[in-house]
Amino acid sequence: MKRVIIIVLGILILISCEKSKKEFSVTELEYADYVKVVKRADWGWLPLEKGKEEATINKITIHHGGVKFTADKDPIESIKNLQKWSRAEKDWIDIPYHFMIDLAGNIYEARPINYPGDTNTEYNPTGHALVEIMGNYEVQTLSDVQQKSLVEIVAYLAKEFSVPLSEIKTHKDYSETTLCPGKDIYKYFQDSSFVKRVEMKLNESD
Ligand SMILES: [Zn+2]
Repeated sequence: MKRVIIIVLGILILISCEKSKKEFSVTELEYADYVKVVKRADWGWLPLEKGKEEATINKITIHHGGVKFTADKDPIESIKNLQKWSRAEKDWIDIPYHFMIDLAGNIYEARPINYPGDTNTEYNPTGHALVEIMGNYEVQTLSDVQQKSLVEIVAYLAKEFSVPLSEIKTHKDYSETTLCPGKDIYKYFQDSSFVKRVEMKLNESD
């Protein structure tokens, strides 16, 4: 009898815990055929433990990780570590970026797009879709596959959220205290070739 009571109590506690776990709304995007994205559920993203005020995307801003990334490192392990650090050390709701691109050009979903990102510098990223290339492009070189993936995800986001080409920029364009996204990415913004490639992608996929 005692054992039955303990089991019933245990079940009741489990049910009430389940109910008290708050669910935060997560916008799931439907990607265009030309963009291959590793969904949050496919790399082991942990559900949000807290939310913040939601915002609509009207800009796209490119970042690099700022830390050298080499081919012997596991990108998914690194994304998971960034998630843990962001939540535990920075008290952010999640990874500061909405998308991350690894050395092989794989694109990973990170923070849900309905929540503004976070930054260590002084600009306000509310309304910005944040796309990060893993690595340090002051010292590394952006490969063709990485650039192709970056063009595809940015073109998709520009179309999905009606972001004008003039609002596709880099972190450095908003903050004087950062080198982000590094000179080997920034050069494609200085000569406007990156935004031209996005425009071409949008024209061919219309
Ligand atoms: Zn940045």
